[in-house]
Amino acid sequence: MRGISSGVYYRRIIAAGSGGSVIDCVFCRIIARQTAADIEYEDAHVMAFKDIYPKAPVHVLIVPKRHIASIAELTDDDAELIGRCFLVARRLGETKGFADKGYRVSVNTGPEGGQVVYHVHFHFTAGRQRGHGA
Ligand code: AMP
Ligand code: ZN
Repeated sequence: MRGISSGVYYRRIIAAGSGGSVIDCVFCRIIARQTAADIEYEDAHVMAFKDIYPKAPVHVLIVPKRHIASIAELTDDDAELIGRCFLVARRLGETKGFADKGYRVSVNTGPEGGQVVYHVHFHFTAGRQRGHGA
């Protein structure tokens, strides 16, 4: 498996049980504490951790704990969970002192949207921006 540093991320089937399979997803592994991350926030539904390659002075990824590949895969059942992610963004804005100064919450979707990791995540960026986003 090539590292993400190559700019390419592969999902890998690691187990095939009785009629199902488990996708090896880097963010699911962080949520399961199988891969280390600098966790900023966690509750029963959402986790937030520092981006390993920050594009701004503050760069935190907010992820639903349930695996959803991308915005393109969302269903009505995901509405509350996605709303919770935005509430965590608000909380991060407050706890990190950016509630008034402001911050960006962004989502890359699909190949032309720049998505590399196929587990829905919200980029929370704040401070001096370094070429992140339009
Ligand atoms: P995207 O292009 O929206 O899919 O963004 C994926 C983000 O995940 C990038 O900003 C990466 O730097 C970040 N990333 C990938 N692997 C990890 C990891 N193990 N821990 C923290 N951030 C990661
Ligand atoms: Zn996942």
